[in-house]
Amino acid sequence: MIPLSINCVGRLLVILARGIKVLDYDLHCHSTYSDGTLTPAELVARAAERGVKTMALTDHDELDGLAEAYATAVQHGMNFINGVEISVSWHKYTLHIVGLKIDPSYPPLVAGLRQVRSGRGARAQKMADELAKVGIRGVLEGAYRFTTNPNMIGRTHFARHLVESGQCKDVKSVFNRYLAQGKPGYVPHQWATLSDAIDWIKGSGGIAVLAHPGRYMVGRKSMGSKTMRELLAEFVSCGGQALEVVTGSHTPAQYAEFARYAGEFGLSCSCGSDFHGPNESYRDMGRLPDMPTGCRPVWADWELPPLAELKAA
Ligand code: AMP
Ligand code: MN
Ligand code: MN
Ligand code: MN
Repeated sequence: MIPLSINCVGRLLVILARGIKVLDYDLHCHSTYSDGTLTPAELVARAAERGVKTMALTDHDELDGLAEAYATAVQHGMNFINGVEISVSWHKYTLHIVGLKIDPSYPPLVAGLRQVRSGRGARAQKMADELAKVGIRGVLEGAYRFTTNPNMIGRTHFARHLVESGQCKDVKSVFNRYLAQGKPGYVPHQWATLSDAIDWIKGSGGIAVLAHPGRYMVGRKSMGSKTMRELLAEFVSCGGQALEVVTGSHTPAQYAEFARYAGEFGLSCSCGSDFHGPNESYRDMGRLPDMPTGCRPVWADWELPPLAELKAA
């Protein structure tokens, strides 16, 4: 969707921008097409206001918000990257694989994501049944009221309903009490396989990024026996190319830890807020620290159109 033509002056500007850090990147966030609370247009406008120069919309398992986001990014003179965040089951764990620079019309990606989404309705029903067993009754309808795209009903919509109905004080405490793995409303689910998700992304011309690696239960004895090195080795052998080093939910110690892993496994590094909405997320759009020195940015060889050219488009 992004114009490929790029003139020499533009190239020079991009090279200069890399050196002097004129471009600011936020390569992970969510709109109402999945579990964000802002429309793609509102989200892009917010990013522009906060000085983001290059952003990717990465809705869970869904591509339908990309066209609106792109159109708005053009109006704001921002670079826009087509993205997605695919839900994956790997052994006992749920992983998220971000795809950047994907082609949203690539048939295997479109069909694969349709298949991944198709289980969400039945899962939501089971979640409501499990919550009823611990005295939280009649929440399915309330959760659906928080969706804009009912095909993408998920845990966040349940959480928002439980907060709104006064049963929990905020989204985080709903997850801690009811929805995180091991809690009463958690329903195990079979998502895409790691290799399928990476194949769909790469087949469409995109880059596969392991999202927020610090959030997985991998390496914690109570949750199974896999280690982070085993996960990264398999991610690389399936064709994965980058690690999300700077993300809203990582601590500064985790930026350093995952920058080291990226170096060890020859992975590029990505960054993104994982913003879902005002007053709900760890970080706002564009509010991210620099990546640790030594990281090879995932955008190092991207040929981004100069911002002025985008504005005129
Ligand atoms: P689902 O795809 O329905 O399993 O929902 C996953 C989404 O739930 C994630 O993308 C986050 O937006 C949200 N989520 C997961 N864990 C937490 C948590 N501990 N606190 C707040 N939100 C969470
Ligand atoms: Mn989410
Ligand atoms: Mn995620
Ligand atoms: Mn996300």
